[in-house]
Amino acid sequence: MDGRPVVPSTSRLRPLGLAEVEITGGFWGRRQQVNSEATIRHCHDWMERLGWVGNFRAAAEGRLPEDRHGVVFTDSDVYKLMEAAAWEVGRSGSTEAEGRFADLTAIIAPVQEDDGYLNTVFGRPGQPDRYSDLEWGHELYCYGHMLQAAVARFRTGRADEFLEVARRAADHVCDVFADGRIERVGGHPEIELGLVELARVTGEERYLHQASLFIDRRGHQTLADIHWGRSYFQDDVPVRDQVAFTGHSVRALYLAASAVDVAVETGDERLLEAIIGQWERTVTRRTYLTGGMGSHHDGEKFGEDFVLPPDRAYSETCAGIASVMLSWRLLLATGETRFADLAERTLFNVVATSPAPDGRAFFYANPLHQRVPGVVPSPDFVSNRAASSLREPWFAVSCCPTNVARTFASLAAYLATTDDSGLQIHQYADSRISTTIGDGRRVSVDVGTAYPAEGRISVRVSETDGSPWALTLRVPHWSSESWLVVGGERKKVGPGQVVVERSFAVDDVVELELDMTPRWTWPDPRIDSVRGCVAVERGPLVLCVESVELPGEQSVETFRVDPGSDLVERDGVVSVGGTLVAFEDRPWPVPGLVLARNSDVVISLTPYHDWANRGPSTMRVWIPAATMEVDNQEER
Ligand SMILES: [Zn+2]
Repeated sequence: MDGRPVVPSTSRLRPLGLAEVEITGGFWGRRQQVNSEATIRHCHDWMERLGWVGNFRAAAEGRLPEDRHGVVFTDSDVYKLMEAAAWEVGRSGSTEAEGRFADLTAIIAPVQEDDGYLNTVFGRPGQPDRYSDLEWGHELYCYGHMLQAAVARFRTGRADEFLEVARRAADHVCDVFADGRIERVGGHPEIELGLVELARVTGEERYLHQASLFIDRRGHQTLADIHWGRSYFQDDVPVRDQVAFTGHSVRALYLAASAVDVAVETGDERLLEAIIGQWERTVTRRTYLTGGMGSHHDGEKFGEDFVLPPDRAYSETCAGIASVMLSWRLLLATGETRFADLAERTLFNVVATSPAPDGRAFFYANPLHQRVPGVVPSPDFVSNRAASSLREPWFAVSCCPTNVARTFASLAAYLATTDDSGLQIHQYADSRISTTIGDGRRVSVDVGTAYPAEGRISVRVSETDGSPWALTLRVPHWSSESWLVVGGERKKVGPGQVVVERSFAVDDVVELELDMTPRWTWPDPRIDSVRGCVAVERGPLVLCVESVELPGEQSVETFRVDPGSDLVERDGVVSVGGTLVAFEDRPWPVPGLVLARNSDVVISLTPYHDWANRGPSTMRVWIPAATMEVDNQEER
């Protein structure tokens, strides 16, 4: 068992698995614990309660289509829950998660038909024909999540019945979607990720070939021209010819991640370069400060360049997770730290934002500006996607909670890598890394840090054979002054990465000190919707102003920040100076209108990932700067 979610057969950096990296506490350790103790069970309970697990029982007992519940792709949520349970078994040895996986396997396996087909929506009397709705039917999407769950199970040391179920389903897909048969693609990319990883697990070339076929077929208009156009499915332009990620964000990012997988396995440099180019364009022009992607609720889509409205930001949790998946694959392929930088930004400010502290409610959309305080949802509330400004227990379309669950359970596998020369640490968390480098030399280190509350990261060598090797630490781009301390020697290091190569001894300590001074961040002037606003960041965290911090809990719309004021940090809490302004409602624009200054205030900012944890509030990340528009007249 190695517990690695992604295992390229060739790559610049080698991934480590749950058997080699353990998160031992801190920011992510707490979240892993809540995930294990609450979220996985919460997801399972809801899927039982709403009949999504029951759909498989009904299928086995011949009660479909009458007894089917939920939207067309709920099978995929059950598979994502299984993937989360599989990683959790690998992470913690949880017998509860083990029981869940076994129980669900016993429910699902009998539903598989003789030719490998498995889905609760299509193909039975009274149901639509198989593959009769490739745009919206999600059969291939569901298989993709099934395959990923089976891979997680295999990679955590249990080659049991579910792997056989997945193999039969994959064989079936390869038969039915071969050249000369159905020469089309599924509306929601995902099968490609599952097929490549299953090929890596089984050595079955056929699965890789099929994934490659799906990548090459997309963009050739085999799907219908729908209301949002074929770009919604990324079926308007071939993958290699795209300029930036476009259309439905989760679809685009799963597709890009799988294109990297295919490019790496087939040695297709051109495809890899195309995706890197699209990533660059997207990150520089179509990505929120939080790392969030997708600026349109309508179609859940990427906007055009610089269309990044903070209040209407969709920034789906799943898109954040998909972006981390893509960044990880690009980091492995290239070794470039910029991909780890984006993964960090996205993990702290999108993925960590979604779940409530108790792990039983979630944000689906992650806007950067909330104008209206939400309503506390009842624990029984099943939401549409983004109806409230508060985290919600469950959704009619519930892709995000199980995506959080599988990501947290496997998160340790995204912290570090090795290559022939040594060990690279990309993400900082209290952790224990124990692995082999080069030709099999054992190396272990303990990472201790209060990150992201503090910027000091201490790496203590706990196992080494005395021969030289290289410890590489990422120096985040946001740290304006970073220091490396080795053997009592302190030297300044620039952003990117720092390499310490030597014959380490046990108990040698390497320390990295990052600059956690809070900082002003000005937006690109081409983003019209936040012009004249400024944000505050500290370390990897984006901060926001919440109405619960304003006098009388008045709306954040009244707050103007003074970017000339000092950002004061005390015990990790950052405060800013500014002004509360008064508005007069007028039915038409008034030339030369200025706002009346009401009072000067100092406001504590909230880490964005913590917003709305103190009840309904209004919130904004981009805060209007008090400049021309604030009058200097006397207080009113
Ligand atoms: Zn989602």
